[in-house]
Amino acid sequence: MTETIDIKVTRIKESKLPGVDFDNIPFGRIYTDHMFMADYIDGKWQNFEILPYGPLELDPATTTLHYAQSIFEGLKAYKSESGETLVFRPFANFERLNKSAERMCIPEVPKELYEQGMKALLEIDNDWIPEEVGKSLYIRPFVFGTDDFIGIRPSDNYKFMIITCPVGSYYAEPVSVKIETHYTRAAKGGVGYAKTAGNYAASLYPAKLAAQEGYQQLIWTDGQDHKYIEESGTMNIMFRIDDTLITPHTGDSVLPGITRDSVLKLARDWGYKVEERKISVDEVVKAAQEGRIQEAFGTGTAATIAHIKKIGYEGADYELPPIKEREWSNKFLKELDMIKYGQAEDKFGWNY
Ligand code: PMP
Repeated sequence: MTETIDIKVTRIKESKLPGVDFDNIPFGRIYTDHMFMADYIDGKWQNFEILPYGPLELDPATTTLHYAQSIFEGLKAYKSESGETLVFRPFANFERLNKSAERMCIPEVPKELYEQGMKALLEIDNDWIPEEVGKSLYIRPFVFGTDDFIGIRPSDNYKFMIITCPVGSYYAEPVSVKIETHYTRAAKGGVGYAKTAGNYAASLYPAKLAAQEGYQQLIWTDGQDHKYIEESGTMNIMFRIDDTLITPHTGDSVLPGITRDSVLKLARDWGYKVEERKISVDEVVKAAQEGRIQEAFGTGTAATIAHIKKIGYEGADYELPPIKEREWSNKFLKELDMIKYGQAEDKFGWNY
């Protein structure tokens, strides 16, 4: 039996909802009326609270502002046709949150805190979950050290928070990506598998340089000698070469994406040939030159599937087949969307 936690609720006086144009929602700019918050003090999670969304007061010496001892997750809630709220694979995110926590010396978040905090917040802000297919509510749980101490050591105190924001139809434009052979996202023995702040800060500059060359995203390669493909931007990456779906295995330098796992489960269920293994830059470039890459795409919560239209490597660009001819990735996208909105059988038990 899970313990029921006691959540103090303070409701907003006037909802911001009437002022929101749901046909025009910029990603990550408009937050719902409330947020969930808990404190880790004296070795114990406490002060469970839902309160109006708003700024936090932080001491300038707050350790996280200096040393990034912080982790986060990203998942989505959808409305089914019958008006039910469906959250896609929240416990997969929960497990990943605590893997990130362990790596960053952050105390584990108890399941009841994560589950009941999120559920209560979604109930209170239920009217914010868009009803239209294609739209959803993005959920951002995060934990950060709150000690006002600029010595370097794990913080004694933490905040666990959940904020949410409605997101519009996200039909990702196909992207041009560049294989990065100088900068590194994640090193062996590093923190690449954790969803932690510094990974994202470190990726900004290389991504900015690539954007100046006309690429929307980078394909990250291994930090040792940049010979093997790892991820694409903030997504996992997959290739269909001939009739095999190939994706890098997740080690300590690749974030184990939940969309990645969902796509692989569907692919195996449908009898596609799947390989999770090392995939070298040479192999991809050679396959592109020979016209054997049928499909290439990123997988992630934001877009589900982001088709890659062009791959750049050492000054050359390789165009990939037209998006509409990409049978497998379009089928993954359709099936995952149908499951998320409760329109297809949820045979893996993914919806909460
Ligand atoms: N890799 C990185 C670095 C990411 O930030 C994300 C987004 N969370 C992913 C992959 C995709 O993960 P998911 O499918 O769980 O969103």
